Amino acid sequence: RFARDLPELAVRWRAEETPDPRLLVLNESLAEELGLEPAALRSAEGVRLLVGAAVPAGATPVAQAYAGHQFGGYVPRLGDGRALLLGELVDAAGRPRDLHLKGAGRTPFARGGDGLAAVGPMLREYVVSEGMHALGIPTTRSLAVVATGREVYRETVLPGAVLARVAASHLRVGSFQYARATGDVDLLRRLADHAIDRHHPGAARAGNRYLALFEAVVAVQASLVASWMLVGFVHGVMNTDNMTISGETIDYGPCAFLDAFDPATVYSSIDTGGRYAYRNQPLAAEWNLARLAEALLPLLDDDQDRAVALAVEALGAFRPRYGAAWSAGMRTKLGLPDGLDDAVASALVDDLLALLEEGRVDHTSFFRALGAAARGDAEPARRMVLDLAAFDAWAQRWRALEPDAAAMDRANPVYIPRNHLVEEALDAATAGDLGPVERLLEALSRPYDERPGLARYAAPAPDETGPYRTFC
Ligand code: AMP
Ligand code: MG
Ligand code: MG
Repeated sequence: RFARDLPELAVRWRAEETPDPRLLVLNESLAEELGLEPAALRSAEGVRLLVGAAVPAGATPVAQAYAGHQFGGYVPRLGDGRALLLGELVDAAGRPRDLHLKGAGRTPFARGGDGLAAVGPMLREYVVSEGMHALGIPTTRSLAVVATGREVYRETVLPGAVLARVAASHLRVGSFQYARATGDVDLLRRLADHAIDRHHPGAARAGNRYLALFEAVVAVQASLVASWMLVGFVHGVMNTDNMTISGETIDYGPCAFLDAFDPATVYSSIDTGGRYAYRNQPLAAEWNLARLAEALLPLLDDDQDRAVALAVEALGAFRPRYGAAWSAGMRTKLGLPDGLDDAVASALVDDLLALLEEGRVDHTSFFRALGAAARGDAEPARRMVLDLAAFDAWAQRWRALEPDAAAMDRANPVYIPRNHLVEEALDAATAGDLGPVERLLEALSRPYDERPGLARYAAPAPDETGPYRTFC
């Protein structure tokens, strides 16, 4: 449908030859959800499909055009430099889902790039995106990683791979920026109609459907970024081409999870200015949405002054929506009762976060340990903080509210894709051992369900690990 509705944004293309494709991981439950037979995908023909060597009858693989602001600078032509949209599938729930291949070779958008991807980064996307999904956070999904048998030249020579990715769609803020920049308002309108039809059908019933589309994207992104903040996820490269219209997290490159709680945390080696630091993520999302609003202006009203006023007003909903989603999430993380006074709740949250920041406390372990504190054993949480007197005073105020420990355990994960565990698993996989990736995926598949024998997946990074750095 994308290629048919929006031919200006789609370049027909084929994947590069793959010398020796070998399936590394297959997401059987996702395959079944998509109506694909896992055994068929494991066959030689199935693996050829997963690297784009075999194209299903009727499919038209395309590279998608998009623009984007990268670290604030506008790039008019980005597009799928190393990816192909194979087509759409209808899943078991009747929803259309994109099937997309990343690392399938150079496309007309490749610029200086080689079009390839390495085993480590593609498995990182697989592991982290599936971990995010299990946490209940909207995200693109990962169907499979296939080693290609090709060498990929980075700092060193690495084994190549293709990731098969599934998304509600791959429409991005940058897709709208590209359409707008062509000056073709009809194309922009078709793109907006396509997005409404696919993701925000309620907007079609509004008086101003394009304004309603924008409002819907503001709403899904406010809620998405709040959910990142609540689990300590740092995306790392929130460029406008990496922000979806559907509200799914996309593009797991230099992403990482907070270990010690420090709002200024930056992991990405290329984010030297800290633009996409943990605490800046809501602002970055709002900035990106302003760029989406600009792209949509010709559709919002014939009078452009009026269009700007409408856009500004709609964008104004981001902060209250984000704030409400984040506050509600923090209340749940602390097990606070419904109807608790806002001022009381926000003072508790602020005071706790100050304690965590001061003590550089492990974010995930601490919130999980608070569940035990709600049940009467405060010691595991208390041991993690620096200022014991401040913690005791805080805990006394909090316990007096009778926090709901069971609700807390459903909101505070035990297992997240911890940076040192992901690195360890990817290093092993690059050396040929997939065992650690499989065991990590198993732990992450039920993140709220503490299980015996998995203690090392719940533990913070050992002290000697040192500061974590990620690379695109
Ligand atoms: P990202 O920052 O990961 O969103 O990527 C930005 C742009 O660079 C996108 O247009 C990608 O398709 C493109 N790109 C990234 N890596 C490669 C590569 N190895 N070869 C070609 N294009 C690439
Ligand atoms: Mg990207
Ligand atoms: Mg990327």
